[in-house]
Amino acid sequence: MRLILHDLPTVRTVETISAMQRLARQWQMQRVPVSFVPTMGCLHSGHLSLIQCARRIIGPRGKVVVSVYVNPTQFGPAEDYANYPHNLFQDRKLCSRAGVDVLFVPSDAEMYPAAFSTWVVEESLTRGMEGASRPTHFRGVATVVAKLFNIVLPTAAVFGAKDFQQAALIQKMTRELNFPIKIVVSPIVRERDGLAFSSRNRYLTKAQRSRATVLWRAIQQARASLGARPIPAARLKEELRALVEAESGVRLDYIEFFDPQTLAPAARVSRGTHIALAVFIGRTRLIDNAAL
Ligand code: AMP
Repeated sequence: MRLILHDLPTVRTVETISAMQRLARQWQMQRVPVSFVPTMGCLHSGHLSLIQCARRIIGPRGKVVVSVYVNPTQFGPAEDYANYPHNLFQDRKLCSRAGVDVLFVPSDAEMYPAAFSTWVVEESLTRGMEGASRPTHFRGVATVVAKLFNIVLPTAAVFGAKDFQQAALIQKMTRELNFPIKIVVSPIVRERDGLAFSSRNRYLTKAQRSRATVLWRAIQQARASLGARPIPAARLKEELRALVEAESGVRLDYIEFFDPQTLAPAARVSRGTHIALAVFIGRTRLIDNAAL
């Protein structure tokens, strides 16, 4: 294969916490604003839209920092941490093309030194949905994001609406722990057939990939079922459960209808109610959500 010079990744990559903090403090002293996009890597169009959003909100004079870190503490013991895809070479290339200033790639040893025991725990928004299915997930997310905020010292940080409950958690944590950071939530980017981009989509076989559109079809069916009057959430859940479970090899984890501000479950569903769902396709767990 011929290597084309302009395709070589050129983005500045920082691997230690002290080097990242030093740089962040320098920028702070120079009053250079910083926009931050935390990711677990294996970047796709969803991540790239967050990076574009980060650039837009910070302007040409600001710095855009992307972190790539597969955070072990947000995975449960039976989850896919060991198999989670990595592709740092491609990530560097994409970040370089997208005009990212710094790619921060910390090590586990630095992020979680031996005997690490300090956690950030949110106790209300994170109880249901993903929190109920993945009991230690949000503790891991809140802790790693708080750590990354203290390392990157951003002015703004961008999260995807794809992880709706996570975005709500980060907004609440930022407010309640007084991080001086503006949180921006960027819309879900989908493939042509409605499937939301996800690093986990690459686990799917061809047949599973075509069944995975059931997430988007369930959302569309919920929209279509809404009339002028609110309808009982339990009834709509059953209707959507039947749709999901009609697909062979697909198992519903949960469907929830809720208020997008408080995440409180809705007993009746009307326009403006939010839907979130999680399904297993074989062993791959995918999530999606939308406003109805
Ligand atoms: P991840 O690498 O999966 O941890 O995701 C990093 C960030 O990208 C999170 O804020 C996600 O919500 C966001 N993200 C992932 N997929 C999408 C997507 N399809 N559209 C928009 N944002 C996304």
